[in-house]
Amino acid sequence: MTSRRQFLIATGVGLAALGTGRLGTAQEPTAGSGTGLSLIDEVVPPGQQPATRPIVVSTWRHGQAANAAAWPILRAGGRALDAVETGVRVTEADPQVMSVGYGGLPDRDGHVTLDACIMDETGNAGAVAFLQDIKHPISVARAVMEKTPHVMLAGEGARQFAVAQGFPTTDLLTPAARRTWQDWRRTSHYKPWSPGSDPARHDTISQLALDAHGNLAGACTTSGLAFKMHGRVGDSPIIGAALFVDNEVGAACATGVGEEVIKTVGSFLIVELMRQGRSPADACREAVERIVHKNPHWRELQVGYLALDRGGNVGAFALRPEFQYAVTAGPETQLIDVAHRTG
Ligand code: ASP
Repeated sequence: MTSRRQFLIATGVGLAALGTGRLGTAQEPTAGSGTGLSLIDEVVPPGQQPATRPIVVSTWRHGQAANAAAWPILRAGGRALDAVETGVRVTEADPQVMSVGYGGLPDRDGHVTLDACIMDETGNAGAVAFLQDIKHPISVARAVMEKTPHVMLAGEGARQFAVAQGFPTTDLLTPAARRTWQDWRRTSHYKPWSPGSDPARHDTISQLALDAHGNLAGACTTSGLAFKMHGRVGDSPIIGAALFVDNEVGAACATGVGEEVIKTVGSFLIVELMRQGRSPADACREAVERIVHKNPHWRELQVGYLALDRGGNVGAFALRPEFQYAVTAGPETQLIDVAHRTG
């Protein structure tokens, strides 16, 4: 028997050099190398790799700040659920991130409407859809999970619930977002995504964490597609679409054009593929292929998937270039360029 700590000291290298594909994008990153991974002692049967934990991963560049907020909780032995809620709240509050929470771009009528969901290690889930005036939809989603017998509240009912729970109301439309919307109204050309378009148009934050106790959780929060139809709800509050967590297997999350993710139940599919033995990267690739198979216009769309299994292995894949994720398994965070569909 080898302990996890002994194993890593014996190799003297980071995760990528273990040759286990633990960060399994096609462009193999070197996360963990020399980053002083936070380790916990655990007895590992011969022939099995020790789990990488704690670890936290998030979609997009702004995932770095979200990971920085989540990491101290994980490092201190805290719960993955607390880490992901704390992590994505940073993005929700950041007016520079014009695709999530406060400062998010509005719908085509000028209303900022938010979608979010959260899932814990027991399979419990909470979500809010089409929520207005509340800065932290992820915390409302958690309250739905913990304080109601339901999974999802939407619209005015979600808002009333949030207010009753003590969440303050805020005007979420910042001057910068209003200006961008007013510029857009000159043409009112609705195009959810095209290569090279402003990435701020839709960059949901989804975050997955595996804590020191081996428990997984995930959170997803967004203002959705910029200038969407009023009332449109995307994948981000839908359990199984933008987020799925199964503590026995792993967790997966999504970003991109939510309609494609909903129609292929992407995150649930990825977790089920991992249950069948597929690696996180391979499972994400297969979920992307389902979209390609069904939608002849896939080249005009972006969808990115990110997955973390219960062993701390990370993988991602995207339809189109430019998708990135942030990974933190020690004091440093790495931003990884994700492999994408070609052809
Ligand atoms: N998935 C989000 C939605 O469809 C958008 C995004 O990820 O940018 O609402």
